[in-house]
Amino acid sequence: MNPFQNAMTQLKKASDILNLDPDVLEVLKKPKRILEASIPVRMDDGTMKVFSGYRVQYNDARGPFKGGIRYHHEVNLNEVKALGFWMTVKCATVGIPMGGGKGGVIVKPQLLSWSELEKLSRGYIRAFADFIGPEKDIPAPDVYTTPQIMAWMMDEYSKIKGYNCPAIITGKPLRVGGSAGRDTATAQGGFYVTEELLKKLKIKPKSCRVIIQGFGNAGCNMADLLFHAGFKVIGYSDSKTAIIDMKGKGFDSHIIEKIKKKKGYVDVCDCDNIKCKCKDHKHLTNEQLLIQDCDILVLAALENQITKDNAVKIKAKIVVELANGPTTPEADEKLFKKGIYLLPDILTNAGGVTVSYFEWVQNLQSYYWTKDEVFEKLQKIMVDSFNRVYDLATEYKVDLRTGAYLLAIGRIADAIKERGV
Ligand code: GLU
Repeated sequence: MNPFQNAMTQLKKASDILNLDPDVLEVLKKPKRILEASIPVRMDDGTMKVFSGYRVQYNDARGPFKGGIRYHHEVNLNEVKALGFWMTVKCATVGIPMGGGKGGVIVKPQLLSWSELEKLSRGYIRAFADFIGPEKDIPAPDVYTTPQIMAWMMDEYSKIKGYNCPAIITGKPLRVGGSAGRDTATAQGGFYVTEELLKKLKIKPKSCRVIIQGFGNAGCNMADLLFHAGFKVIGYSDSKTAIIDMKGKGFDSHIIEKIKKKKGYVDVCDCDNIKCKCKDHKHLTNEQLLIQDCDILVLAALENQITKDNAVKIKAKIVVELANGPTTPEADEKLFKKGIYLLPDILTNAGGVTVSYFEWVQNLQSYYWTKDEVFEKLQKIMVDSFNRVYDLATEYKVDLRTGAYLLAIGRIADAIKERGV
């Protein structure tokens, strides 16, 4: 499954409904620029390794290219192109003045030492420095890239320029120009839109059983938010295993986090054996976790998780996409036919890039906001965008993803046409 093909299928669906100007459609089918670089790193053992890095600058009609950099061993150009396209659509969905782009490096970052990781991150910036900039293209974190990595990248760019450039990158630590609230913003934004959908459907949080796939920044913070709001989080997973609560009461997210730190995988007990015989929980595979009985399924891992093969087996009433591209177009249709509400990635995980945009604004002004100010502004944007998407989906009798595309592609098309192709 090629994520870029999936992205283009989504675009085609929306453009047919919108009767999109064919010129605009042609422009949106291709990234504006694809950059590829070889990044040499002197490893700790003295050997030289050369990593492949990408930056796809998809579209900047509405503002500078914006999007994260992913470190993963399965990164490939089609994935980075899809992610860059989705960033373009995401920024337009929530109405922030940014275009879309994405970066990636083929690497298993867990295998690098601290200093190797720093050299790779600085090397990435040196490779693309001429093409990025606070007014051109502003990278950010994504899968397996952290605030520390953003700090090194900002430092490297500032060294090249000869002055301090905090606005070159977002997702930085607070002390070097990060924004309050950026660390939990993706989950926070997803939480706001989930609350709004529940209000529309008249479902009470306390009655909801939730399963969360993925325990990175988005999944882990979403678990905390849901747990504190009284949801019963009955299932978790990471790249190694999954667990399900056998009693249906829900796990305390803080206990899962503590044990994950200690054992390196999600669990709720101290047993050494992953196949332990504790009665209150069971270990499953990620595939099994997705099809367990629950009310809300949060997808916070990678692409292509719900496909034509498992879509009919999904038992959740609501699917919340915190990851990018976790559901394929064929699966979308199957879920919609089953009456399952899917909160799409381009709306649901847009809290991350929205607070990135706030970080960039604060950097340019050198004037910083409190966390309350940040979240108040974020909530307004997320709730307003959700309602626009929901209304469009209702008006056109389509799923929420298509509703979001109608809103976003309309805005991007206006920008392209007004500027002149
Ligand atoms: N990587 C995040 C995303 O996919 C954040 C991007 C950003 O903050 O620019 O939305």
